[in-house]
Amino acid sequence: MAAKLRALLLGLVLSLAQPASAHRKLLVLLLDGFRSDYISDEALESLPGFKEIVRRGVKVDYLTPDFPSLSYPNYYSLMTGRHCEVHQMIGNYMWDPNTNKSFDIGVNRDSLMPLWWNGSEPLWVTLTKAKRKVYMYYWPGCEVEILGVRPTYCLEYKNVPTDINFANAVSDALDSFKSGRADLVAIYHERIDVEGHHYGPSSPQRKDALRAVDTVLKYMTQWIQERGLQDDLNIIIFSDHGMTDIFWMDKVIELNKYISLNDLQQAKDRGPVVSLWPAPGKHTEIYNKLSRVEHMTVYEKEAIPSRFYYKKGKFVSPLTLVADEGWFITESRETLPFWMNSTGKREGWQRGWHGYDNELMDMRGIFLAFGPDFKANFRAAPIRSVDVYNVMCNVAGVTPLPNNGSWSRVVCMLRSQASMAASVQRHSFVLALILPLLFA
Ligand SMILES: [Zn+2]
Repeated sequence: MAAKLRALLLGLVLSLAQPASAHRKLLVLLLDGFRSDYISDEALESLPGFKEIVRRGVKVDYLTPDFPSLSYPNYYSLMTGRHCEVHQMIGNYMWDPNTNKSFDIGVNRDSLMPLWWNGSEPLWVTLTKAKRKVYMYYWPGCEVEILGVRPTYCLEYKNVPTDINFANAVSDALDSFKSGRADLVAIYHERIDVEGHHYGPSSPQRKDALRAVDTVLKYMTQWIQERGLQDDLNIIIFSDHGMTDIFWMDKVIELNKYISLNDLQQAKDRGPVVSLWPAPGKHTEIYNKLSRVEHMTVYEKEAIPSRFYYKKGKFVSPLTLVADEGWFITESRETLPFWMNSTGKREGWQRGWHGYDNELMDMRGIFLAFGPDFKANFRAAPIRSVDVYNVMCNVAGVTPLPNNGSWSRVVCMLRSQASMAASVQRHSFVLALILPLLFA
């Protein structure tokens, strides 16, 4: 056989032997504090942007967050496919007794230390290592060097991104895909969470924030068509957790009424989940006193329910307090996290919060996806935040790292599974024809 033909056939064999990887571009939108029922069938009627996306793609009934149903733990569960006790980002506020360093919702300098982030490799690091171009807008942690890697581009989160910031990021993302600058773009938007906290999940302010996102999404679907990206770009939209009403007038648990705060070596966070490190010799006394408090549960580390996938985390404190839904734990009334409202003083009451038991209905988030790799107009059963990672890896064409996600819960939403099996068969058939020729 002529050498030229042999080389040609060899090339064909090699290309067929590669796994059928879609390797399309991927846009990921993380909408903080977006509760599943904000896009109920009824709500969708007045949300044309979301409604169009649901028609074009996949909508799961709801997404169950990891425990605690807080932001940072779930940002990492979503991006690693691992539970909190595996990836180690167990709270918005953490303390490491060995180094006496604190993580305070990502805003203090020490929160950028690798200590908190290197427990697992998030998707954007894996993709960057694979020489894929990753652009991130306001994404918490994109400015951090994780396992020695930073994304191609990070527009750092400074304070709550505005609706204009969000629209610009989406428009930039599509331009970057079009010009070939980016393979993955990840955009974070917070306003729905912020208004849900300040005014409550059912407030007009929260609904306004949602309508603003809806408008951007309506434009986004147009922009995708205008740039001719519709066959080359998948879009995945999800939230980290939901939101529930809280009642500071009568559902507050003040710890200083039950224990002496001087008996604590350290306390982290307030609200639904509080971590306590009792001073030496005080563990049993504090545990016993807090065991009698109504509307919350105090857990010693080993007694934390296994279904939370939380207790084995290396930053988990000796005592963890979990409030009943709607209740708010604080050291004292004076330390409640008031927000700066229009008076310019920190005196605004919070009306919504999250972090409670992750199985509660109000803690449920959303997952939507559309694009060439997703089925159209497909309603999927509920998934969990750890399941999202495998979907992203699949459509981005990278092999997922070991994770806690369930493939069987997500495979149904992908269009390619049936056709991929057929194409593998076709490839094997062609290989069987070519190989004898090559080695003849
Ligand atoms: Zn929040």
